[in-house]
Amino acid sequence: MTQKTNDNLMKFDQQHIWHPYTSMTKPLPCYHVESANGVYLTLNDGTQIIDGMSSWWASIHGYNVPALNQAMQVQASKMSHVMFGGITHTPAINLCQKLVGITPAGLECVFLSDSGSVSVEVAMKMAIQYWHHQQPTKKKFITIRNGYHGDTFGAMSVCDPDNGMHELFTGFLAPQFFINAPSVKFDEPWQNSAIQDLADTLAENHQHIAAFILEPIVQGAGGMKFYHPEFLRQAKFLCERYDVLLIADEIATGFGRTGKLFACEHAEITPDIMCLGKGITGGYMTLAATLTTRHVAETISNGPSGVLMHGPTFMGNPLACAVANASIDLLMTSDWEQQVAGIEKQMQQALLPLTEHDNVTDARVLGSIGVIETARSIDLAKAQVVFVELGVWIRPFGKLLYIMPPYIISQAELETLCGVIKQVLDADIWVK
Ligand SMILES: *Cc1c(COP(=O)(O)O)cnc(C)c1O
Repeated sequence: MTQKTNDNLMKFDQQHIWHPYTSMTKPLPCYHVESANGVYLTLNDGTQIIDGMSSWWASIHGYNVPALNQAMQVQASKMSHVMFGGITHTPAINLCQKLVGITPAGLECVFLSDSGSVSVEVAMKMAIQYWHHQQPTKKKFITIRNGYHGDTFGAMSVCDPDNGMHELFTGFLAPQFFINAPSVKFDEPWQNSAIQDLADTLAENHQHIAAFILEPIVQGAGGMKFYHPEFLRQAKFLCERYDVLLIADEIATGFGRTGKLFACEHAEITPDIMCLGKGITGGYMTLAATLTTRHVAETISNGPSGVLMHGPTFMGNPLACAVANASIDLLMTSDWEQQVAGIEKQMQQALLPLTEHDNVTDARVLGSIGVIETARSIDLAKAQVVFVELGVWIRPFGKLLYIMPPYIISQAELETLCGVIKQVLDADIWVK
């Protein structure tokens, strides 16, 4: 591509195309990616950079994976899409069999949708419909602060109330119950006081609460925090005691990211409803799933409406299901547990000592997620340029510098990622 053609493309992009959370008048710098292979993104000037983000948790096997490419090609030559109303197909059946098989015991009924946010909307609808004819006062949700569940309105209503969304959409967003985020970190000694706020709020308001929704163990986009599994175990217990359904949003944590196949396994619980997305297709296509128990599914189905009130046009898209099947097969036949444990160990050694640095307030690692919390806010535009110059793709936000690389990353590549993180702490990446 000539320089001029590229300049024209980039100019159109700046003037006409929104990127996630961006302005049309002050667009952030944007990089033109031409292709991707393994853990490398290739920019259109030929530069190769190591992807530390797995395209936001999704590309667990890296890019251009032969088995996944083949699954898509084979499926495309048979049927890329067909409506799911009144029609079914093997890719969807196989996928739902696999999901029921690998998720915590008891999750048996699957609703397929197109994105994580939609799978959260579906989970919330399930909870409302579950209570509708049993106890119609149960119409609200309870959740923990610092949470993130997506960008659609139902999901937004249970995102952290102080991150800007709520203020902007006040009057339109459903008011929900918020409790303090779990105060005990993943590897700290457990303290019962950490569950008090949940216990009190449920005791007082349970007649109005349909479900407790939270991200198990890892709070992702709301702060990259890892909390104690005992919180989740006791939350499950309290939900049962107060007749509140438990929704586990495993969209970021699912498929091995935290060192367990699903983060709920850290607490050995089965939620009533589980949301999956992101890594489900190995980052190839957009797809999500909401799983629930036979009991919840039957209660909804025996209600006055008789049906679950949702049905997206691209529900169960065969191409997405086919590549999800291939991705799950690849994961389950790989030694992902060792890979993730190896990444965890290497990141512990490379990142945890950085707490000594003046610009760092905390460093933490869980599974293949490494997080540095900085003392000052990071200027994204500045930082992005520095990272690309140093050969990596890392996208910080606020005071969080974090990586969650594809599981196939080599030791040397991970060393580069961690080395660059160390290096930029002394670079000019800070908000003035
Ligand atoms: C990314 C994410 C979502 C939203 O998924 P989309 O596919 O972006 O709609 C919801 N919950 C969690 C925990 C996520 O990380």
